[in-house]
Amino acid sequence: RGSGPADQALRARARQVVPGGMWGHLSVEANQLPANYPQFFASGEGPRVRDVDGHEYLDLMCAWGPMLIGYRNPKVEAAVRAQLDRGDTLNGPSARMVELAELLVNTVAHADWAVFAKNGTDATSTSCAIARAATGRRKILKATTSYHGANAQFNPFVNGTTPEDRAHIVEFAYNDLASLEAAAARHEGDVAAVIVTPFFHDGFGDLAAVDPAFARGVRALCDRLGAALILDEVRTGFRLDAAGSWEPLGVRPDLSAFSKALANGHALAAVTGVDALRDAVTKIYLTGSFWAQAAPMAAGIATVQEVVATDAVAAMRTLGEQLADGMRQQAAAAGVGFVASGHPAMPKIRFTDDVDSIDRATQFCFTALEHGAYLHPWHNWFLSSAHTPDTIAQVLAATEAGFQAVRDRF
Ligand code: PMP
Repeated sequence: RGSGPADQALRARARQVVPGGMWGHLSVEANQLPANYPQFFASGEGPRVRDVDGHEYLDLMCAWGPMLIGYRNPKVEAAVRAQLDRGDTLNGPSARMVELAELLVNTVAHADWAVFAKNGTDATSTSCAIARAATGRRKILKATTSYHGANAQFNPFVNGTTPEDRAHIVEFAYNDLASLEAAAARHEGDVAAVIVTPFFHDGFGDLAAVDPAFARGVRALCDRLGAALILDEVRTGFRLDAAGSWEPLGVRPDLSAFSKALANGHALAAVTGVDALRDAVTKIYLTGSFWAQAAPMAAGIATVQEVVATDAVAAMRTLGEQLADGMRQQAAAAGVGFVASGHPAMPKIRFTDDVDSIDRATQFCFTALEHGAYLHPWHNWFLSSAHTPDTIAQVLAATEAGFQAVRDRF
């Protein structure tokens, strides 16, 4: 298994006509993925992906989040096909837009309304624009290293941007209320919003659950300042809690940014919000040539309905616990220092002897790929409800080989 002749040939052709062969986070090279990882994929089915050389993998990246209830989920694909047969991009939206907005308002606890776009960055930047329009203020407070998108104000890679693009982005430390309060105090009277992810899921270290006191503190600070609390659910949405990821904490945001899993892989983003911000939405100019497409909205309806009807969230949590517990036992048996952090449905691995490197994680993933599991050495993984206890057991057979390879080599 791994990158074969078809993958290598496509890479060579791509390098001629696509700068660098591939861009951004999907570039195998730029992402420091193990040397055997394929760049190109041919198909996906349920919990599996197949590369262009015909090798099949049990997939724990789920297309970096969008796949939630299985590649080519029959209910989602039937809804998409039915809509495509009628039309997708038309002179205006279809009835699907209203139906999906109604479904989100009924499903997401804080939501009184929804607007739609395509990518996660559309949703986070729209949320910031709504907050700025509502408050007449400029500053957006975000946690250090939290990723909120690739536009000029949020892109962590500054090439191609200006300092002015980021002039109104102010950083604080996640789970550190004092640093948030200090950041807000430095910009008194000018804070439009705090944007925050439901748990700390970025950076090269371990992931961290949100401290409930921090979540409540963010809410209280936003209330005190009259600023909007934006929950960036682009990565977490519909994986942690269909009603909203902070719902179990009893903390409701003013705006939530969704994309990735909302339509199980079809191109769709949404911002949901509270009544108090309804007018502000009508004051900003929101548009995109494909933002009203009907087929992805049909996919979104089918996806959200299926997640709720099957309690996919509970299934992913159980499967994720099975996976993380199994890996911890294997690591201990192999005598390898290992941490699985993060939410069970979005785990991240770290080898404790990998100091300033990902050498062990890379070896682990290299070997797991050879044994048929597609994992990631430094980014969080994603569970889906198309995985089963049996497929997780197969993944664990691959990770077992991975731990043995780490023990043997280091
Ligand atoms: N916010 C978060 C938390 C994300 O994980 C991402 C994508 N990884 C984004 C925003 C941006 O989404 P997109 O790449 O679809 O624009």
